[in-house]
Amino acid sequence: MEITSEVFQVGGGGLTSPEDAAIYLIRFGDEAALVDSGCGNDTERLLANIRKTGTDPKTIRYLLITHCHYDHTGGASELKKRLGLKTVAHDLDAGYLEAGDNRVTAAGWYGAKLQPFTVDNRLKGSRAEILLGGRKIEALHTPGHSPGSVVYLTESDGKKVLFAQDVHGPLDQSLLSNRKDYLKSLRLLLDIEADILCEGHYGVYRGREEAEEFIRQFLGH
Ligand SMILES: [Zn+2]
Ligand SMILES: [Zn+2]
Repeated sequence: MEITSEVFQVGGGGLTSPEDAAIYLIRFGDEAALVDSGCGNDTERLLANIRKTGTDPKTIRYLLITHCHYDHTGGASELKKRLGLKTVAHDLDAGYLEAGDNRVTAAGWYGAKLQPFTVDNRLKGSRAEILLGGRKIEALHTPGHSPGSVVYLTESDGKKVLFAQDVHGPLDQSLLSNRKDYLKSLRLLLDIEADILCEGHYGVYRGREEAEEFIRQFLGH
């Protein structure tokens, strides 16, 4: 569960419900943020996992959404209500979340309905900065898997930590995927030279070479 002294995996297969994509917790000083929310089927367990890291869920200021898909956002509405956190997502995906679009968010694939919610901070353009506990988290637009996919990049324990969920795709017309954008985004991810890659469905890759190798395999897609 502990990835660095400030970054933890608190949700995803095995930790919360099996259909959840990974949920990560970043704790900088007395403020925390979650990266993605899972489907929201086991919020009690998610909150218990957060407490186990020594973090009070009430200190979670942001939910940093990587993209609009249900396995990453289904739980957002409830977390927003219970914790009063601010949701952050790219402008190009935000509309599907606010409208509860079950096709573009892939909720239909899970036989579910997305609980719509307001996106408090709509990221625009190719990069943005979020401050958490006085430290920087960078958001980079990496379209392809979805139009408004973003990755979050920060430094912890002297290491570059990259939260890049669904690096593997898939690309699908109903998700408004775009292959050309996707390949360009993969190259951007390689340029970052992350020391730790926190992925949505394939776990955590430690070490520059491991992270690079994981990303590189999808360039042939
Ligand atoms: Zn996805
Ligand atoms: Zn996913």
